[in-house]
Amino acid sequence: MGGKLTGKVAIVTGASSGIGEATAIALAAEGATVAIAARRSDRLSKLAKRITESGGQVLSITADVSDEDQVNVMVQKTQAEFGRVDILINNAGVMLLGMIDGANTEDWRRMINLNVLGLMYATHKVLPLMKAQGEGHIVNISSVAGRVANAGSGVYNASKWAVGAFSEALRKEVYQSNIRVTIIEPGLVATELPQHVTDPKAKETTASFYGSVKNLESEDIAAAIVYAVTQPPHVNVNEILIRPTEQE
Ligand code: NDP
Repeated sequence: MGGKLTGKVAIVTGASSGIGEATAIALAAEGATVAIAARRSDRLSKLAKRITESGGQVLSITADVSDEDQVNVMVQKTQAEFGRVDILINNAGVMLLGMIDGANTEDWRRMINLNVLGLMYATHKVLPLMKAQGEGHIVNISSVAGRVANAGSGVYNASKWAVGAFSEALRKEVYQSNIRVTIIEPGLVATELPQHVTDPKAKETTASFYGSVKNLESEDIAAAIVYAVTQPPHVNVNEILIRPTEQE
């Protein structure tokens, strides 16, 4: 498969649906070899079949990205299979919205453990490989919610703010090693994300918010990611903020 990413190896976390799935397909279409990770192995198998049938090379890895040991195995398996890791797409995330007062704090732990710590574990594990290779690119999926805080999304906001802070510090630590860092900040995208909200009232509000505008598609975000990772080596696309046209 020819393309701008031929010879590159990418890991995409949260590839079993939504933005991660579309991104794995888009990277493979540009010629990248992709390691796709998430918990639902049946969904990963279907995606792997689709990529293989289109001529791509793919490795499915069942992993809970909030678990550091499983993240380490994900990176080790990718390196063992393909010999390198050029691109890491830290996409796996949950958005368990709800007011702070009276919240189920298990929702908070799930968001922080995955959206923040999971992304940090994967970054931590790939950095020595990228440094040894002399180059690499880490793409962290934040959100409009990483720039605008609202009542009812405090801990999701905090998790995505953390992604922004971590990414900027990371960029300053690794740019001299030719490792690029990009954050992508989508607005409303039509995916399974809002379906996982556990608080009944927040679930209703979220569904009506998503229903109020024409959402972005996962492929719109995948296209932005492909743009960032296909720039020439001297170009470091630090941040892309993308809202649906109808979103305030
Ligand atoms: P989806 O719910 O469709 O996808 C989330 C992905 O994360 C799934 O593949 C899911 O796979 C994976 N995931 C969830 N928990 C874990 C876990 N513990 N370990 C490994 N993988 C996990 O939502 P999106 O595609 O919308 O979300 C992708 C990213 O985009 C998230 O970081 C989200 O915050 C961000 N985002 C989304 C927006 C939107 O409006 N949709 C807007 C702004 C940002 P599985 O369940 O199989 O593990």
